[in-house]
Amino acid sequence: MRCPYCGDENTQVKDSRPTEDSSAIRRRRVCNACGGRFTTFERVQLRDLVVVKKSGRKVPFDREKLSRSVFTALRKRAVEPERAERMISGVVRQLESLGDQEVSSEQIGQLVMEGLKGLDDVAFVRFASVYKNFSAADDFRSFLSELGDEEGNDGA
Ligand SMILES: [Zn+2]
Repeated sequence: MRCPYCGDENTQVKDSRPTEDSSAIRRRRVCNACGGRFTTFERVQLRDLVVVKKSGRKVPFDREKLSRSVFTALRKRAVEPERAERMISGVVRQLESLGDQEVSSEQIGQLVMEGLKGLDDVAFVRFASVYKNFSAADDFRSFLSELGDEEGNDGA
């Protein structure tokens, strides 16, 4: 880790502990060149989140796929894309704050349903009716194909 004061790369970790809510590791570092002290945080990166399907299969979390299913539900509805994006970011933040690297596809579906409820009733009903009929299905493939999204595969 490069020193923010002098740019030297020879810095050392002095202390390492979880933050209060255990969502991150806080490290105190000291620069061997100039003696400067600084702090870094280590968090789960979204690209490292793993989605556990009902079948038990694990796939990397993909925000693009999540976003596609949301926009599919919102098709032809008068909701500004910015609001939908904010809702998606909110879902992603909630997933991050769970503090686990693994999240279930059900958890994601639940959060999306809650988010859509606040955005648009029709989109919520579309999403919820398909989502709740998944029964044994382990992803949103049927949802996406039903709505004519050719590219929809393996979504979460
Ligand atoms: Zn330094």
